[in-house]
Amino acid sequence: MMRLMTWHGGDKFTLDQVPDPVAPPGGVVVKIDTVGVCGTDVHITQGLFPSTPPKVLGHEGSGIIVEVGEGIDRSRIGDRVVMNGTSHCGVCAACRTWSISRCENADPTSGMFAQYATAPSQSALKIPDELDLELAAMTEPASCCLSGAEMMDIPVGAVGVVIGGGIMGLFTLAFLKRRGVETMIMSEPVAARREMARQFGADLLHDPANGDLIEFVKDHNGGYGANIAAEAVGKPELVARCVELVRPRGQVLMIGVVPEGAPLPVDLYDMHYREITLKGAFGRGNVFARTIEEIGKLNLDGVISGRYELQDVPRAIVDSGEGKGVKFVIKPNG
Ligand SMILES: [Zn+2]
Ligand SMILES: [Zn+2]
Repeated sequence: MMRLMTWHGGDKFTLDQVPDPVAPPGGVVVKIDTVGVCGTDVHITQGLFPSTPPKVLGHEGSGIIVEVGEGIDRSRIGDRVVMNGTSHCGVCAACRTWSISRCENADPTSGMFAQYATAPSQSALKIPDELDLELAAMTEPASCCLSGAEMMDIPVGAVGVVIGGGIMGLFTLAFLKRRGVETMIMSEPVAARREMARQFGADLLHDPANGDLIEFVKDHNGGYGANIAAEAVGKPELVARCVELVRPRGQVLMIGVVPEGAPLPVDLYDMHYREITLKGAFGRGNVFARTIEEIGKLNLDGVISGRYELQDVPRAIVDSGEGKGVKFVIKPNG
């Protein structure tokens, strides 16, 4: 028997005992080492992101393959892996024209707030020996940010701003910097998060309590707005802020998950006149596998703010939603 945490809508969860999972044909069973609590898990329990209970949440997991199904070589047993949430066929319209993370024929990995998960073998990606299993669980959130950062054109000498110093903002900042943005600014009210942006490559830190962000950017960019502004909180008014604070032909990146049905509170004439580009970035795009090596190049010291046992998933989700730490993780097998 194994234990898993089932979500029943709102903030209701039960810790359940179920039979040990069996590897499906073409799939594997992974004993979970670490699974991250995602902002999406917080939004689901707050009714801000559509999801249908009952369900086992958790989609940012790493672990070790302990069993393989029909058709999968037994040499995979013992592989240290990070799990992709869905598989891809590579040939459907979504795979060819949108991204493989939107595959129309995708098989899901099972919910990871559990001691074991089942996944298509393709979705359990081996990680390098030198990458820590706990940090490997950051692959999913990091991949969403890498996918978004790669949507941006980076002019020479570019100035970029990220609003929000949670894990998504930090990864977005790191990947924009690594792609060649010369000056990266982090705007974040919580001092500990703001300071952490330094190790991800921030050149300048802005505290919203200490003056207007638009003025701050102009002061550091010869009177002009930023070339790129990324919103990593999920608030429509902050997306609007990003539109205001980019210079003509500036690009705005939406990393934060805004509530369903939210309108965009901006002056469309201004967007049109100043030729602003607004891009949404949701999910892992085509970069999940490549992200594994990218996170190995980052300094992730101190990123994990709390570790919880499986029975404490509800508390971890509440703590995560308070926005004080950076990343909270569950250790389902202790
Ligand atoms: Zn996530
Ligand atoms: Zn497909």
